[in-house]
Amino acid sequence: PQQNQASETHVFVSKLPTIPISNHLPLHTYCFENLSQYPDRTCLLVGSTGKSYSFAETHLLCRRVAAGLSKLGIGKGDVVMALLQNCAEFVFTFMAASMIGAVTTTANPFCTANEIFKQFNASKSKVIVTHAQYVDKLRDAGDNNYPVFGEDFAVVTIDGPPEGCLHFSVLSEANEDDAPAVEIDPSDAVALPFSSGTTGLPKGVVLTHRSLITSVAQQVDGENPNLHLKSDDVVLCVLPLFHIYSLNSVLLCSLRAGAGILLMPKFEIGSLLELIQKHRVTVAAVVPPLVLALAKNPMVDKFDLSSIRMVLSGAAPLGKDLEAALLSRVPQAVFGQGYGMTEAGPVLSMSPSFAKQPLPTKSGSCGNVVRNAELKVVDPETGCSLPRNQPGEICIRGPQIMKGYLNDDEATARTIDVDGWLHTGDIGFVDDDDDVFIVDRVKELIKFKGFQVPPAELEALLISHPNIADAAVVPQKDEAAGEVPVAFVVPSNGFELTEETVKEFVSKQVVFYKRLHKVYFVHAIPKSPAGKILRKDLRAKLAAPTSSS
Ligand code: AMP
Repeated sequence: PQQNQASETHVFVSKLPTIPISNHLPLHTYCFENLSQYPDRTCLLVGSTGKSYSFAETHLLCRRVAAGLSKLGIGKGDVVMALLQNCAEFVFTFMAASMIGAVTTTANPFCTANEIFKQFNASKSKVIVTHAQYVDKLRDAGDNNYPVFGEDFAVVTIDGPPEGCLHFSVLSEANEDDAPAVEIDPSDAVALPFSSGTTGLPKGVVLTHRSLITSVAQQVDGENPNLHLKSDDVVLCVLPLFHIYSLNSVLLCSLRAGAGILLMPKFEIGSLLELIQKHRVTVAAVVPPLVLALAKNPMVDKFDLSSIRMVLSGAAPLGKDLEAALLSRVPQAVFGQGYGMTEAGPVLSMSPSFAKQPLPTKSGSCGNVVRNAELKVVDPETGCSLPRNQPGEICIRGPQIMKGYLNDDEATARTIDVDGWLHTGDIGFVDDDDDVFIVDRVKELIKFKGFQVPPAELEALLISHPNIADAAVVPQKDEAAGEVPVAFVVPSNGFELTEETVKEFVSKQVVFYKRLHKVYFVHAIPKSPAGKILRKDLRAKLAAPTSSS
């Protein structure tokens, strides 16, 4: 705990010592730095097929794909879209892009053609690596100015290939020595996930080599790391790699630590349990809905989960009861929460119980702020920093945070202030033992099972309906999903609308987790004099016993 008395700012740092971080290196060099110590160890294990790749094979394939991408005309600063479920090709593509100074924008293959196109267009992707099954969707995407299937672009599929696409072997069978040597600056972008942040539509989050190395190092480097991954660990990778939590805390951290990664393309409880048992998974990175399944599903008793030594939950709040229920199923495991945000690189705090010498953690806590970073809690009204035990907006500062939003200086300036503090839009406090607790969210964002649902996106869609005059979307609490999006809709004068029509209109255009769960018809949307939707009022309306208009 440190308090800067001089400026009367309450700043919190980790209980663990500060460490040296090699964040001058390119990300791939850093991740594979210790490769020579375990070239033959399994690096990637594909759950569905049993195929595995050693660390040396993985590194070689990354280099080949780097050469292949370069042959396709991808160079420094170009953007590659990985529209992939969890698979080995995701890893090769991401690391290969890093090797040639390119940037990977990670996208959810379940998104609709329009949602994918928006990301493709905003990121100016030059190549898409995907599965054959999503190609038809891509044919529908795009416009005349920036067609997905245009002369300047390539669609590479890891299976098939369907007409007009290239097979992944074009990349993976290239000669590794043909990859050009590229000079990479630590401030060059390497990953471009999309996030709506505290307000508005999804935006490209520019994460640099320096940010990701710092974040990985904060978790796994040093004598007494936060996340004590070892080279004999088998880490479960079922959370989607297109989300920064899995990309960073599972993939990059495991590569750096030399741990094996068990890749599962999607969550299905039966095969998950079977794979944990079969491959003796030791570390499980999960989200609250998965904790719910592991804690409550009767199938769990039929499997041997004794290999699990650590369970890490993140991406959304986890209730204390659920934590206890899970621990009764895997009593041998250490359990803890990580608190992250894409823009923060993403980890802000993590249970120190993952350290080599476990420190006591409290139920419901998101652990200490990570090492080599500063955290403060500010009063949302006054902007002043608050002492311990007082809730306010969590802010974080350090080399791990994003460089900014892609081509959006205004949104960047709203999120990172002139002193370098990133404002999260989350309300929390730090207690007497330096434990961080998240208690509320003041930003617009809705989280369905840890997935982002930006209200502004749904509101724009709703208003595009000819019979809708105005709309607002807010979260409603839900046991299974954490939160679900619900809409308040003002029909245009004289038009009759049904809840079903509105729900269907939206669900045809969005990925499954953005679907509306309820529609309330109202005469007007409450707004501030400046025209901002008073979301707090609408949330309060939902919480009231007689919700509805
Ligand atoms: P994303 O950028 O998709 O990772 O979403 C980040 C947001 O998810 C954070 O700003 C929080 O609102 C929420 N979040 C992530 N981890 C936690 C956690 N452990 N507890 C509560 N909320 C969390």
